[in-house]
Amino acid sequence: MKTDVEIAQAAKMEHIEKIAAQLDLDADDLELYGKYKAKLSINTWNKIKDNKNGKLILVTAINPTPAGEGKTTTSIGLGDALHSLGKKAALALREPSLGPCFGIKGGAAGGGYAQVVPMEDINLHFTGDFHAITSAHNLLAAVLDNHLQQGNQLDIDVRRVTWKRVVDLNDRALRNIICGLGGKAHGVPRETGFDITVASELMAILCLASDLQDAKERIGRIVVAYNHAGQPVHADDLNVTGALTLLLKDAIKPNLVQSLEKTPAFIHGGPFANIAHGCNSVMATKHALKLADYVVTEAGFGADLGAEKFMDIKCRFAGLEPDAVVIVATVRALKMHGGLSKQELAKQDLKALAAGMENLAKHIENINQFGLPAVIAINKFPTDTDEEIAFLEEECQKMGAQFSLSTVYSDGSKGALDLAEKVIKAADAPSKMKLIYSDDMSVQDKIAAIATKIYGADSVEYTKAAEKSIAEINEFGFSNMPVCMAKTQYSLSDDMAKLGRPTGFKITIREIRLCAGAGFIVALTGNVLTMPGLPKKPAAENMDIDINGKITGLF
Ligand code: ADP
Ligand code: MG
Repeated sequence: MKTDVEIAQAAKMEHIEKIAAQLDLDADDLELYGKYKAKLSINTWNKIKDNKNGKLILVTAINPTPAGEGKTTTSIGLGDALHSLGKKAALALREPSLGPCFGIKGGAAGGGYAQVVPMEDINLHFTGDFHAITSAHNLLAAVLDNHLQQGNQLDIDVRRVTWKRVVDLNDRALRNIICGLGGKAHGVPRETGFDITVASELMAILCLASDLQDAKERIGRIVVAYNHAGQPVHADDLNVTGALTLLLKDAIKPNLVQSLEKTPAFIHGGPFANIAHGCNSVMATKHALKLADYVVTEAGFGADLGAEKFMDIKCRFAGLEPDAVVIVATVRALKMHGGLSKQELAKQDLKALAAGMENLAKHIENINQFGLPAVIAINKFPTDTDEEIAFLEEECQKMGAQFSLSTVYSDGSKGALDLAEKVIKAADAPSKMKLIYSDDMSVQDKIAAIATKIYGADSVEYTKAAEKSIAEINEFGFSNMPVCMAKTQYSLSDDMAKLGRPTGFKITIREIRLCAGAGFIVALTGNVLTMPGLPKKPAAENMDIDINGKITGLF
């Protein structure tokens, strides 16, 4: 089979105006970035806001293997299948970050015959949104350091500056730095560091804001530091809310591209799935729902993190509600949950597969706890044997689950026609989403609700530091915010070695961070790296471009 970039390059793309026309958008609704990419005009919302919403389909997964189980690929293939069945369909996905692209994971524009294009552009600088976020983030850092330099009127405690700098690359050497070295004229020395751009609170804000005004209000509320009296200092106190918002004036507009099969695809925003909520922008999803009858969207990581945060954070803020949820499962991840090591996944093992089913079962129960129907998409990998697939289908049948084999990676839309039919049926049936906790519950009760109901934990423990932070959050009046859990994606528990469906475990909250701008409280269960490192052989080493501009090595 051809590589992803070869398949993408062979695609005959349609002018983006023609793709937009499928959604009844005309030239006035588009700001063109060349022939194949566009941003939606800020005025389009007024034109479409009274349209009826289409059906929202969330794609999530079981706890994955480190390679990813194919949520993006399945989302795109499902969108294409709905499209090829004659439905007015659209995709709403995240923008890839340059860090993983040059690191291990490669791009994030789908795979095989289920991709969005122009794949090279989407994976590289795209329409510049991440650069805008990087600049805005670093402007706030620069202004803060300048404030310290110019006399520190706000009495900021330099040991409690929480706002770092960002760059959209994996660069471990920048995790911890000292800035302001070189003497009096060169700033106030202090310890700080860099995060990757997708971990910026501005990214989360861009993705949760309902419009530019809402983004501005959230930006103003960002806590950048604490003063010597222990009170929070906000971005607004540094008088740059307006400047930061204006740097984001174009980044906030949803981007429109197409899939290999010409399904309209909104690709906008890309927050981390650990210390942030991990899904594309509210604005893109809302526009897509007004314009299409079926919108397929993805949440990062497994359903215990991605789907939970999709509902409890994104849907809570935006007043959205999915109509159906697709859980992507693979034979190889299920075998890993059944006890096989990464090296053993390519060989047939029905016993391990059977043992791993309990992970899938828990995720189905979880989706049902949210009051929503689940359809299992079995994403077929080349190493899966026919016997394993038949066995997995039988097991799904026994559980009474809706399921379908998906071969979109090798077959495109044809590989998900049955999945699409089942999703349509599930989405068209009435359902009512139930959130796992209410705003007025205490921070501890919210965390306990997630840990016991979604993860299956017995209880939650807190470090002293976490307890102190919660006390502060209560004192500052932020306790009504939703909680954003940062946990390993590999296990339902907070221990990545506990696979399958662990029981009899505790969740330990080590640290609590306040994202008052984004509007959530981050609960960290372990050390979460907000600046990834590169592997021994970065994917970047295989990439090239020739004299004619032909790119190789992107995947
Ligand atoms: P996720 O969104 O869950 O992280 P992706 O859709 O990005 O996963 O897929 C992860 C990787 O696996 C990508 O490189 C993709 O091309 C590849 N992949 C996905 N599905 C298949 C499949 N059925 N067969 C082979 N490779 C696949
Ligand atoms: Mg993905």
